[in-house]
Amino acid sequence: MNIYKFGGASVRDAESIKNLFQILNTQKTNLIIVVSAMGKMTDALESLCHHYFNKTGETAQALQNIKEYHFNIIRNLFTGDDREVCEKIERLFADLEAVLETEPSLCYDYEYDRIISFGELLSTTIVAAYLEKQGRKAKLVDIRKCIKTDVNYRNANVNPELSGQLCRKVFTFQDTFMYVTQGFIAGTTTNQTTTLGREGSDYTAALLANLLDAESVTIWKDVPGIMSADPKQYDDTEIIPKLSYREAIELSNFGAKVIHPKTIKPIQNKKIPLYVKSFLHPDAPGSVIRELDEKLKLPPIYIDKDHQLLLTLTPRDFSFIAEEKLSAIFSILAKYRLKLNLMQNSAISFSFCIDCADAVFDDFIRELKDEYEVLYNKDVRLITIRHYNDAIIRRLTEDKTILVEQKSRLTARFVVTNN
Ligand code: ASP
Ligand code: MG
Repeated sequence: MNIYKFGGASVRDAESIKNLFQILNTQKTNLIIVVSAMGKMTDALESLCHHYFNKTGETAQALQNIKEYHFNIIRNLFTGDDREVCEKIERLFADLEAVLETEPSLCYDYEYDRIISFGELLSTTIVAAYLEKQGRKAKLVDIRKCIKTDVNYRNANVNPELSGQLCRKVFTFQDTFMYVTQGFIAGTTTNQTTTLGREGSDYTAALLANLLDAESVTIWKDVPGIMSADPKQYDDTEIIPKLSYREAIELSNFGAKVIHPKTIKPIQNKKIPLYVKSFLHPDAPGSVIRELDEKLKLPPIYIDKDHQLLLTLTPRDFSFIAEEKLSAIFSILAKYRLKLNLMQNSAISFSFCIDCADAVFDDFIRELKDEYEVLYNKDVRLITIRHYNDAIIRRLTEDKTILVEQKSRLTARFVVTNN
């Protein structure tokens, strides 16, 4: 059994879904298809949730846009007599409207997961209906009944034992060769909806592979494979045909967008290979992440993260930045759900780089200012180069001002501003 994951870009319009069907139609093995919300619908639902929770008066319009997007795809995929799919989608929208008509609770993250999950529920319903129409019947599974998590809404932690038992009961392949299910969303034991963190569908695919001992996972993307840099940012990138699990974890943790950082551990634990392939060129080999014995010689691979916030904290009483202070700073970061992308300390200062989170910025800085002198640069870039050499460092930094520099044996990192 193999797992295929299709992200938002691979189901963004009717043509893409037809293309997805073409890819599946050539497959002969048992498959589980994990699907994300269509196109940028998770962003649209995030904005809907914002309007609902903050009562901006724009909820109805935001909902209307989401409805139109989906019904437009349906109109282009199905002929007029397909009442069945329309009814299913109308029912989902009625459920969503029922949520929006209630008074929001005090917990934003809970409301967020209830609303955001409709992206995946809608996309999988449409994809499964289309496959059926094309004669490739696939069973639609509500993953919230199988992957069980705690109540840490928006970044829920999976209970692997319970999820394993439930998944093995559901994905039996006794009366079907193919299942379609949602990425990113999950449920608690009391059937509340949770999510696994933005872009978490890759993680769902990896989890299912682990729990069900799949032979492989394939992530279908709009890039030819794992590239030496993001082809949307740089034009001289090359494809990396194979990577070890370790290298892949390092790269995704440094911010490479190709796979979600949580994806690797579940497949690495069971030594399941993960393929990254282009849905536009399905016959091209793409890249594979797997157990590799040989020491691979890799070209420089670089990750350029923009919108970074660089902070330097100095205790007001000039006390040392020692364990206690660091632990207090880390708790503040955890409280605001900020991910540390780089850090460096001296005797009495601590500098670090995080994603610039406008929503919490003021509160976060205010809290730090209680104890520290705070200096910061907004909108800087963090460039990470794995397997670096002098030429590539020069090329990527020469027209920039370097604010922080770190080098280890394999990795060079620079916090820069554009000149
Ligand atoms: N739809 C979700 C998101 O955009 C999950 C995913 O695409 O992986 O974050
Ligand atoms: Mg997505």
